[in-house]
Amino acid sequence: MDVTVKLRQVQERIRAAAMRARRDPNDITLIAVSKYASLEQIQNLITAGQRHFGESRVQHLQTRQQEVREWLLETLADGAEISAQLKWHMIGHLQRNKAAAAIETSEIIHSADSLRLAEHLNDLGGRRETPIPILMEVNTSGEDSKNGVPIPAAIHMAEQFETLAHLQLVGLMTMARQSADPEESRHCFSTLREIFNELRFRKICGPHFKHLSMGMSGDFEIAIEEGSTLVRIGSAIFGAHTEPAMETGT
Ligand SMILES: *Cc1c(COP(=O)(O)O)cnc(C)c1O
Repeated sequence: MDVTVKLRQVQERIRAAAMRARRDPNDITLIAVSKYASLEQIQNLITAGQRHFGESRVQHLQTRQQEVREWLLETLADGAEISAQLKWHMIGHLQRNKAAAAIETSEIIHSADSLRLAEHLNDLGGRRETPIPILMEVNTSGEDSKNGVPIPAAIHMAEQFETLAHLQLVGLMTMARQSADPEESRHCFSTLREIFNELRFRKICGPHFKHLSMGMSGDFEIAIEEGSTLVRIGSAIFGAHTEPAMETGT
């Protein structure tokens, strides 16, 4: 099936889930995760109006952006305008030696998961005019294979992130437990929302702290019911893939 058709289906499912949860569908941003997509599929999505894209490796962010920009400038009259509208998200585990490249290419870094990484990003942020928007990744499933700050450390870690002047903590991110039963994801998502609420309630984080990045192809409707504002969706748009997961990539 055409990626544009699948995009429309996913958009409709997002809208329906938002309505069920009595939420405004416009408060939910669809990030198309293009790590297994072809350039042509990405081009089709852009033509269909999709503007947010996610990659789990910095290297892929760089090459994708380059390829897409060249294509836009060469083929479309309003290519420069569309290129400026595109928002790329770094959603995978970030290594310190890739941090500078991630800042250059990424709208929001979704995967700040240690004080060491945050401090390094903060040092780099000192050379910019505006703070770097980041999300703190929390390991809500408790699985060893998952990145993210452990639940008991999350509040204190966010407090420490907030002391770093060149970062702006704009929300939290998590990956739910992988399970055949999407309802099992719900507990991970509601845990993230509770941590979020606590950080707001105790005024540890301010008005810019507004995002919950949670929900993937298998569980995004539940994530929306639990308050997600950024859903990261790959295979539901681009088709199932056979490669191993690249979650631990750079
Ligand atoms: C690959 C990936 C996704 C998208 O996964 P799908 O199940 O294909 O939708 C979302 N978030 C992260 C961090 C990923 O690495």
